[in-house]
Amino acid sequence: MRCQLSIVNYQLMTPTVEYIREHFDLYNRQMFGGTLTVPPIYLTNARTYMGQMTCRKRTGLFGKKHFSDFALRFSRRFDFSETELQDTLIHEMIHYYIACHQLQDISAHGQLFRQMMNDINQKYGRHITVSHRITNEERLQLIGSKPRPRIFAVVRLADGEHYIKSVPRIEQRVLTMHRRISFSPQVSSLTWYYSSDPFFALFPSSMGTRMQRVDLVELQLHLASATPLICDGRTLRRG
Ligand SMILES: [Zn+2]
Repeated sequence: MRCQLSIVNYQLMTPTVEYIREHFDLYNRQMFGGTLTVPPIYLTNARTYMGQMTCRKRTGLFGKKHFSDFALRFSRRFDFSETELQDTLIHEMIHYYIACHQLQDISAHGQLFRQMMNDINQKYGRHITVSHRITNEERLQLIGSKPRPRIFAVVRLADGEHYIKSVPRIEQRVLTMHRRISFSPQVSSLTWYYSSDPFFALFPSSMGTRMQRVDLVELQLHLASATPLICDGRTLRRG
């Protein structure tokens, strides 16, 4: 007789903070010896990850990394099966365990991470993988070819949400779009950038007025390497 369990588990769900916190406690006791304290948990609209452990990383004199300011983030943009959400949480908890115990791994999914992951999979019958987080290379594959640099506006609306509007790389187009966007009373700020980070190639470039909402934390991560541009509606120059 075939086992039908997978059908029961296949109901899709959106993560909630309560669910994550409850399961964090459970897995912390079961798998991490109760050594973890619950970090802040945020729900986001990110399209590039399902779950993410974020922290500050400082590298000391002799290359030893020091981690602080931990948080767990889960995207509401994806529908998870329950097991998928649990596996995603455990995956992020392994990152969290390594970082908050100041353990040194050679890379994000290095030897230490894989060993803990394999142990947990074996002992608890989980199916955690290293691949649920979309890497830059995977992002590039999704886009198809090496992306060209983009010019885009980061638009903040009065409700606090952030949007991206990418336009063709022609000064006149930027100026036109600048006037068009800043004319709207809902817009509370508008800043232009130039970047060759593939993340920004995910946003369609056009002269239409449709903008894409973007998760602020994810945006800030990618803006760090972008070049700010200064536009006053008549001229455009490097910031
Ligand atoms: Zn990971």
